[in-house]
Amino acid sequence: MVRNPHAGQPFTTSDTEIAEALLDVSIPTLMLSLVHMSGDPELIRGVLRPAGLFLNEVQGYMSEEDKAAVRELAVGLIADYRDRGCPEPEPIGPELLKEMMEWLVCEPVPDEYVPMVLEEMELDGRDSRRGAAAGDAKQDFPVVVIGCGESGLLAGIRLKEAGIPFTIVEKNAGVGGTWFQNTYPGARVDVGNHFYCYSFEPADEWTHFFAEQPELQAYFDQVMDKHGIGPHVQWRTEVTAATWNADTATWTVATRGPDGTAATLTARAVISAVGQLNRPHLPDIAGGDTFTGPAFHSAEWNHDVDLTGKRVAMIGAGASGFQIAPAIADRVEHLTVFQRTAQWMFPNPNYHAEVGAGVRWALRHLPFYGRWYRFLLFWPGCDKGLAAAKVDPEYPDQHRAVSEINDITRVMFTEWITSQLDGNAELAAKVVPDYPATGKRTLQDNGSWLKTLTRDHVDLVRTPITRIDADGVVTDDGVHHPADVIVYATGFEANKVLWPMSIVGRDGTTSLDELWGERPYAHLGITVPGFPNLFCMYGPGTNLASGGSLIFHSECQMRYITDCLEMLIDGGYRAMEPTAEACDDWVRRSQAEMRTMVWAHPSIEHSFYKNAHGEVYTLSPWRLVDYWTWTREPDRGDFAFS
Ligand code: NAP
Repeated sequence: MVRNPHAGQPFTTSDTEIAEALLDVSIPTLMLSLVHMSGDPELIRGVLRPAGLFLNEVQGYMSEEDKAAVRELAVGLIADYRDRGCPEPEPIGPELLKEMMEWLVCEPVPDEYVPMVLEEMELDGRDSRRGAAAGDAKQDFPVVVIGCGESGLLAGIRLKEAGIPFTIVEKNAGVGGTWFQNTYPGARVDVGNHFYCYSFEPADEWTHFFAEQPELQAYFDQVMDKHGIGPHVQWRTEVTAATWNADTATWTVATRGPDGTAATLTARAVISAVGQLNRPHLPDIAGGDTFTGPAFHSAEWNHDVDLTGKRVAMIGAGASGFQIAPAIADRVEHLTVFQRTAQWMFPNPNYHAEVGAGVRWALRHLPFYGRWYRFLLFWPGCDKGLAAAKVDPEYPDQHRAVSEINDITRVMFTEWITSQLDGNAELAAKVVPDYPATGKRTLQDNGSWLKTLTRDHVDLVRTPITRIDADGVVTDDGVHHPADVIVYATGFEANKVLWPMSIVGRDGTTSLDELWGERPYAHLGITVPGFPNLFCMYGPGTNLASGGSLIFHSECQMRYITDCLEMLIDGGYRAMEPTAEACDDWVRRSQAEMRTMVWAHPSIEHSFYKNAHGEVYTLSPWRLVDYWTWTREPDRGDFAFS
C-alpha cells in the first residue's frame, strides 16, 4: 500500500536530535501530530493547550513552561514512534478530527466549514480537488490556457490529470507569473508559505515563513517539472486575440511568438489564467519622459542599474514599495519615497524570519504536522477579516472607522505604528492612515518599513507630485527632489481584466474588454454569457482582500472548470455558457454585498480595488466557505448547452 504522503517520512533521528528539533516547532501543532503518532486523544484533553488564536501566532500564546512540558513529553512519544518503525498512523474519525481542529484554533469550527477544511488538509492523503478522467471524446477537445502563473500551471496539472489535451501560452520566458515578473529587491509573499502553496504540493523546504521571490519561483518551477507541464507551454508567446467560431464551436487563438511571428491555435475551450496584477500601471505625470536617468516599474526591475551611491526617487508605496524601500535603503545615497496614501499595516514579527532546521525536520517527518500547520495558518485568515471590513451604516464618523470592530482594529494598528515612532509626531501625521483600517490592502510588518523611513538619508514625501524634470521630481510645494534613478512602484492596471487581449465571443463583434469596460463581471468570476467555452481563473470579483490565498481560490475555480469541461466532453455538447439570468443575479448580489464592505466605502479615495467610478468589481465580498460551496460543482441550471 502506498504511504499517505502527509504521514511523514520514516526517520532514525536520535533522542537528542529530536529534542533539539522541537525547540523550533509550533507546539500546538506538534501536539496534534502526537495524537496521530500515539493514537491517544487524551493528550489534548488536559491542561497543556493553546490559549488563543491570532494570525501568525503559531504558539497559541502558550507559556514557556507549558511548551517545555510538551517538548519533554513529545521526545518520548516520538522516540517510541521511531522505534516502532514510524508506521503510518491509523485514520482518525470525524468527531475527533473536529475536536482537534477546535482545540488548535481555540474556538468552534462551524459544521459548514468542516468538509472544506478536511478537503484543504487532505489528511486522508487524497487530492479530492482533482477531476475524474474525462471520457474518450477528450482527444477531440484541445484546450488553450492563457498564462502560466500560479493558476495557469494549476490548470495544466488538472487538465493533464483529466487526460484533456492542452497548450499553455505564456508571455514570459518562465513559469510563475507575478513571481516570475516581480524580481524587485525585497519581493516576498505575505501569505504564510506553508499555506501559500498548492494543497496537493506542500513544500517542506521553505527557508522563510514568507519566502522571497527566487524561492517562490523555484517552487513553481519544481511543481511544473514534477507534473511534466513544461513541454505543453509556448514560452515568450503572447495571446493577442481569441475569436469564437460558431460553425465549428472552436476558439481561434491568435498568438505572437518570441520573434514577433503571428500564429494561431484552435481550441474547443479557452482558460484565461492571466491574473489581475500583471500589466504595470505607470502614472501620467507631467515631464515623465524628460527624466534623463534610468526609470523603471517595480515589476520590470532593471537589474543592470546599480543603485549603489545613487539618489533614488520611489514613486508609489503600496505593497511593492513597502518591500522595496527597506531592501535598497542600505546601498543608496538618498531615498525619497513619494507616497500618496498611507498604508495600514499590522505586526508580524516573523515576516522576515527563517524557518529553523527543527521546523523543517518536523514538516518532513512528523505525521500530519505540515497539514495541521497549514490549517493553523489558514483559519485566522478564513472569513474572520470580513467582519472588520463590513460597514455598519449607523456607526458614527465613518471616515475614521466603519464599525465598532473596525474601530478596534484601527486602534490596534495605530498603536503598532506609533509604538515604532519614538514620539515623532511629524512622522506619525504622515504614516497613520486617515481612512478606515483594512480599507486598502493591509500589509504585514515587522518594523522594517518605519525603521527605514526614520533613517537620515530617507525622506517620506506626502506632498503631491507636480512634475518630473531632467534630474528629479518637483512637488506641489515647489520643492525639487533631485534623483539619479526613478522607481515606479505604482501598481497595476487591476481593473482592466484580460486587457489588452481582444476576446470576441458569440456576437462576432464585441470584445470582452469593450463589453466590460471598468466593470468586469463573470458568473462566479468564471464564465461570461455570450462567450461559450471560455473560463476565467482569478477572474472578475475573485481577488481577495481580507484573508485566504489566491491559490485556494484557484483550486476552487479549477475544480469547477474541470467539471464543466467534463460535462461538455461526456455530454457530447458543442458549447456551454452561463445564462444571462444566472450571471446577472450573481453580479447583482455580489455588487450589493460589495457596497456594504469597507473597500467600496467613499472614505477610500485611492485604491486599485476601485474603478474610475469608485466601484469595486475585482474583489470578492464573499466568505471563502461560500465560494468553496458554490464552486464545488457546476449547477447545470446556470448554463445553456448547445
Ligand atoms: P499598489 O498597492 O496599487 O500601490 C501603488 C502605489 O502607487 C500606491 O502607493 C499608490 O498610491 C501609488 N500611485 C498609483 N498611481 C499614482 C499616481 N498617479 N500618483 C501617485 N501615486 C500613485 O501596487 P503594488 O504595491 O504593486 O501592489 C499591488 C498588489 O500586488 C498588492 O495589493 C498585492 O495584491 C500584490 N503584491 C503583493 C505582495 C506580497 O504578497 N507581499 C507584494 C507586492 C505586491 P495610492 O495608494 O494613493 O493609490
